[in-house]
Amino acid sequence: MVGAGIVGAACAKELAEGGLRVAICEQNGYAGGGATAAGMGHLAIMDDSDPQFALTSYSQSLWRELAAELPVEAEYLACGALWIAADEEEFAEVERKFRFYHDRNIPVEILDSRQIAAAEPNLRAGLAGGLLLPADRRLLPPCAADYLARRAAAVGAKIFFGKQVAEVLETGVRFEDKTFLAGGLTVIATGAAAATLVPEIDIHPRKGHLVITDRYPGFVQHQLIELGYLKNAHSTTADSVAFNVQPRVTGQILIGSSRQFGVEDGAAEGPMLSKMLARAIEYMPGIAYLSTIRVWTGFRAATPDNLPLIGACPGYRRVYLAAGHEGLGISTSLATARLLADEILGRDSQIARSPYEPSRSFALHA
Ligand SMILES: Cc1cc2nc3c(=O)[nH]c(=O)nc-3n(C[C@H](O)[C@H](O)[C@H](O)COP(=O)(O)OP(=O)(O)OC[C@H]3O[C@@H](n4cnc5c(N)ncnc54)[C@H](O)[C@@H]3O)c2cc1C
Repeated sequence: MVGAGIVGAACAKELAEGGLRVAICEQNGYAGGGATAAGMGHLAIMDDSDPQFALTSYSQSLWRELAAELPVEAEYLACGALWIAADEEEFAEVERKFRFYHDRNIPVEILDSRQIAAAEPNLRAGLAGGLLLPADRRLLPPCAADYLARRAAAVGAKIFFGKQVAEVLETGVRFEDKTFLAGGLTVIATGAAAATLVPEIDIHPRKGHLVITDRYPGFVQHQLIELGYLKNAHSTTADSVAFNVQPRVTGQILIGSSRQFGVEDGAAEGPMLSKMLARAIEYMPGIAYLSTIRVWTGFRAATPDNLPLIGACPGYRRVYLAAGHEGLGISTSLATARLLADEILGRDSQIARSPYEPSRSFALHA
């Protein structure tokens, strides 16, 4: 396993529990760095496309099974998600989304203007309504990744922290320090850096900012997302911000989010933060009076069709991919791991694997 973000850690656990001898190779000295450390941790069920829905809802069910075992530090919280419609045009989208979830047996409710104000009193007055998804959850991604890696180790996975993989070979991996680790097959779970090891992969980093406040218990109850988020999230070129806030178990509020292509520098950018916070204040004016204590950035691994690459890597023997999860890798990590293990271990899967096959977006290795 190359990479111990949440996806690599989940895959390592699944493969080790499936009976394979697993080695986790991670350049950091710990699991749960990379985008995982930067992620918001919303465990979302999404309706962008049928494959996205299948993967997120399957993964949500796996998170629910695991929930009782997660350590308290993982801060698993049953907060539900509320998608907010600012005007009548967006409210029409609420009705479409309601039908989508309802038809697929996902608990869902439409809230009108009065009900949304009662559910979240700090939202600005006069919003058209919203869509409540009570089954959505949130957690602290780095702690969840650390837990998954420890679970893998508990069933025999060997951990190689502080080891950067420089090259993937048919027989194993070569590290930057020129040492070699033999392996029967290699899984690349290096997130936005996946193209460094397999240049044919069409994965590009997409920068995001988050801000966290001091403790204000009760200020926000649900994961709140503006409906315009989807328009912005799907743009593959333009920079964008959207109102997206989350309550933490500590009472802190996580404020997002932004999306930028073509930026490699991980430094927090003042203009982007100003835009993002202005958007948040537009929806929740009281945010202007909260004290913020930290800002960070991270890189989502974006693919052209917004679906991850899970499975055998075309053109390479004994190499598998589990990468390209963009803004949903925390949500979909457990389902990714289960599907990958199903393929490697020759098991049937609970959902179709074909929509996530890497071959769909791959220029074949010469
Ligand atoms: C601002 C922001 C908000 C987000 N919010 C959410 C959210 O609310 N819900 C959600 O589901 N998702 C969210 N995401 C997306 C989510 O964080 C990612 O999809 C997920 O963390 C990807 O996990 P990963 O394991 O694939 O990659 P990463 O977490 O990036 O892990 C890759 C690992 O590989 C290691 N690595 C890289 N190259 C090498 C190498 N050559 N050798 C050894 N190790 C290597 C890295 O050090 C890293 O630890 C968000 C992302 C961002 C940036």
